[in-house]
Amino acid sequence: MMGNFKGLRGLSEAGGDAAPYTEAHWLIGAAYAEYLSPEFHVWCLTVVRDRMEGKLVPAGTVSLTEQDFERLTDQTKQIIAPIMDGLHTLTGRVASLERNLPQRRPILSKTKAAIVAAVIKFGRHCPCCGLVEVVAPDGSVVDAEFDHFFSNQLPSAKHAWLICKPCHRALTDGSMDRVEADSHFVSFQRRFERLQPRPEPKPRKPAKDAS
Ligand SMILES: [Zn+2]
Repeated sequence: MMGNFKGLRGLSEAGGDAAPYTEAHWLIGAAYAEYLSPEFHVWCLTVVRDRMEGKLVPAGTVSLTEQDFERLTDQTKQIIAPIMDGLHTLTGRVASLERNLPQRRPILSKTKAAIVAAVIKFGRHCPCCGLVEVVAPDGSVVDAEFDHFFSNQLPSAKHAWLICKPCHRALTDGSMDRVEADSHFVSFQRRFERLQPRPEPKPRKPAKDAS
């Protein structure tokens, strides 16, 4: 029955990608309610009328017969079944992906030392928020953590930085978006790169006996 409404004017997708749902014009809703049960239909129309009159109090409770209730339950199950099947498939796939993920690669102490040296040059503050001191004047790391910016599998200096604990926590639990922090990371990396010894410029045409 729901499928018959597809493509009708008055139905639209809403809620965005995060929580999509289908919105229907109240007339379509009323028609569907009528199909389900005359009592439910009357109740729906009462709610609509009340809302149109500006009443925000709930309308009287609907009394469904046992048969109506069963039909409603069956229909709900039919709608939900394919969604649940899809969810189970998806859960299985995620679990198998997680099993096959490579192990977390730690940031080497050599890399950490290079990052700390850079942070000291830049004024010892968290390169993410710029507010908190993350390296003490004596060179020790304070209230800060090394963060794999892109992935736990990418531990090189190009893919990591040293940030204050609140920034690290926010990035880890997702309360701060990595996209939001990206410009700070890129700025840190640009300055970090400038500090590194430049490799000898390569000749445009490789010489025959170059070593
Ligand atoms: Zn910070």
